[in-house]
Amino acid sequence: MGRIGIFGGTFNPPHRGHISVAKQAIYLLELDKLLLIPASVPPHKTLPENSPSTLQRLELVQLAFGDIDRTEISDLELRRQGHSYTADTVEELHRMYPEDELFLIMGTDMFTSFMKWYQPERICRYVTLAVFMREDKDSHSAGEMQKLAEEIRQKLGGKVELVGNDILPMSSTDVRRMTAFGGAQEILPENVYRRICDLNLYGVREDYRGLPMDELERQVVSLLDPKRVPHVLGCRDMAVRLAERYGVDLTDAARAGLLHDITKAVPPQLQVTLCQAHHVPTEEYAHENPKTLHAFTGALVARKIFGENEAVTRAIFSHTTGCGDMDTLQKIIYIADYVEMNRDFDGVEELRAMAFENLDKAMLMGLHMTVDLLIQQGRVVSQNSLNAIATLENSNFVTA
Ligand code: ATP
Repeated sequence: MGRIGIFGGTFNPPHRGHISVAKQAIYLLELDKLLLIPASVPPHKTLPENSPSTLQRLELVQLAFGDIDRTEISDLELRRQGHSYTADTVEELHRMYPEDELFLIMGTDMFTSFMKWYQPERICRYVTLAVFMREDKDSHSAGEMQKLAEEIRQKLGGKVELVGNDILPMSSTDVRRMTAFGGAQEILPENVYRRICDLNLYGVREDYRGLPMDELERQVVSLLDPKRVPHVLGCRDMAVRLAERYGVDLTDAARAGLLHDITKAVPPQLQVTLCQAHHVPTEEYAHENPKTLHAFTGALVARKIFGENEAVTRAIFSHTTGCGDMDTLQKIIYIADYVEMNRDFDGVEELRAMAFENLDKAMLMGLHMTVDLLIQQGRVVSQNSLNAIATLENSNFVTA
């Protein structure tokens, strides 16, 4: 009796994280064979625009995994019409390999939703679930994974193996963003990246510089985490209102508002990778405080990828921490981010009103609120925020 791994996925595109899982699965699960099965129409997602055709995706999978010993690429799901269910796939594979033990490989994200999959009990009849950790934080929830494994054992009679793998935190969604931002070559196998360039997939050769406003908005919305879109559009609207109030260029305000969180959805580790891809050293503070890193990489992407001017780039750079000697647009973006209409916290209405009355006073209120909170939480306060407070306290207030 042999041991066969089944590794299915959208692979849109296949990345180093997938390859690491495949290699570790062969080794840790002592597999005789690993079947790579690209999905055609995944039941749980629709493919984003700019995605490759089915055949192109299959080609990328062949490039990514083709050199790994004991792997075999299967077009079993791609040949199937309509929705493609794992339950059908594993049943078919059991028919093909009746004597062998089958392992269904998945990341923790898939495992946590397993009970909601189509006919999970039918899946458990044919395979052992082999679960790979995806993120460092997964290790904190090891207890939850154990609990879920126990539930699957008891309710479905399923077999679950939680694999103690090395983690490579990245997703295809990250790769698609990194492709637009000029950093995907760092997280893709070289041949996959080259083919993506040849086929011009995921906007890799797209020129994002100088986009008209409506097109800029469309692109930004497609690159953000969907949950963040209302905030970003709210920040843009508030920035434009404040720019009108204080006589600042409305276009710059709108563009900076739209782009201020452009890299926020990219995990901090990959934001560092993005800086390396652009040969830009990351600041020490940003390393220690991953939550502010997106202001740094957002400014980088705004300038290098979207071709934005100095004023817009500066405003994005300082939108999280502030900095010394801020110009009016910088202050507007800092405050717009704080008080846009979707924000809801104690004191927001007062701060919003102050933003239109006296921008510098509003800045000081916002900065002090943030610094106080960081101190309360025992976190590091950025020197940039302290510089912002110092210069504002020593200057004449900007009023309308
Ligand atoms: P997307 O971002 O488009 O959702 P993805 O990176 O999750 O894509 P899929 O093709 O959907 O990639 O994933 C196929 C399988 O590989 C899933 O079971 C998923 O959990 C797992 N997987 C993907 N990336 C990793 C990773 N970095 N570490 C461990 N497992 C992973």
